[in-house]
Amino acid sequence: MELPRQIVVGEKNIGEIGNFLRGLSDPAKISLVSGDQVRRITHEKVSRSLAGSKIRSVWHRCTSNDVDSAEKTLLEIKRDVSDLIVGIGGGRSVDIAKMIAFKLKRPFVSVPTSASHDGIASPFVSLRGDKPYSIIATAPLGVFVDIEILKKAPHRLLASGCGDLMAKVTAVRDWELARDKVGEYFGTYAANLASMSAKIVIDNSKNFKKRPDVRMIVEALISSGVAACIAGSSRPCSGAEHLFSHAVDYLHPGIGLHGEKCGIGAILIAKLQGQDWKKIIQMLKNVGAPTTAREIGLQPEILAEALCIAQSLRPERYTILSEIKMTRQKALVLAKSTGVL
Ligand SMILES: [Zn+2]
Repeated sequence: MELPRQIVVGEKNIGEIGNFLRGLSDPAKISLVSGDQVRRITHEKVSRSLAGSKIRSVWHRCTSNDVDSAEKTLLEIKRDVSDLIVGIGGGRSVDIAKMIAFKLKRPFVSVPTSASHDGIASPFVSLRGDKPYSIIATAPLGVFVDIEILKKAPHRLLASGCGDLMAKVTAVRDWELARDKVGEYFGTYAANLASMSAKIVIDNSKNFKKRPDVRMIVEALISSGVAACIAGSSRPCSGAEHLFSHAVDYLHPGIGLHGEKCGIGAILIAKLQGQDWKKIIQMLKNVGAPTTAREIGLQPEILAEALCIAQSLRPERYTILSEIKMTRQKALVLAKSTGVL
């Protein structure tokens, strides 16, 4: 089991990052990966904090999460000869930094600036142009969160993070199916941890209408990532609803955010599994996340096709879709019966 050694969730604590890294692995020099926007917001405070802790740093710009730009950034970072790689940002910078750290065999620290998905603390990354699903890299050595920064991120990102949390409801059920039908290893502890992350936000989402609890949501996302670390696979976090999301990406790249597609996928897959899908819709609505295809610009034909091909993207991962011969017709009926269409 490879787990994060230290996770800090604080408020207005970005200026403490130097101290945090000092205590974590005492690096003399680090490489940072971030997008332009995040760099503008964090550069001054982070640089001052690092200088105060006598840590030298080199910033790298991340503009895309495709394989080619990841490769370019990797070569730049290799030249830094740094002790640690830090990804500061939403999904992209954290993913790229995690992947590069894995390839260069250097420790990695995750500094999320939005709560949009569970890659914050997980050992998994998905890069565009690589496999159509997430692949295993390295678990972060540390996770450092400043809630104040997360609160300033667009609300859509936080709602998307809740969609990724709803995926745990269906992912864990798929994992149970794989255990029962094909004898796959099932980690009870990891499965329960992932289920709990979803349950906590479901149970509290009534209050999210007024003001979402950013700390609760980010902690749930971190716990899901840790569940994947414990399982040593993405099983507790990713089932047929993720295959659906990946299939949409494959058929029509650029539609909706990852967590938005997973949330909608979770509604559909929960119904197929005989679970309480209305509970998922209610949670997503409470946080203002999309529950219909139209809201993310997903055409009915693409949705139906995605459900039909989802399992073929990863045939070895047993899910509810392994048991159902999905057709276009069945997919449309399912989507209409849940109000997704
Ligand atoms: Zn996800």
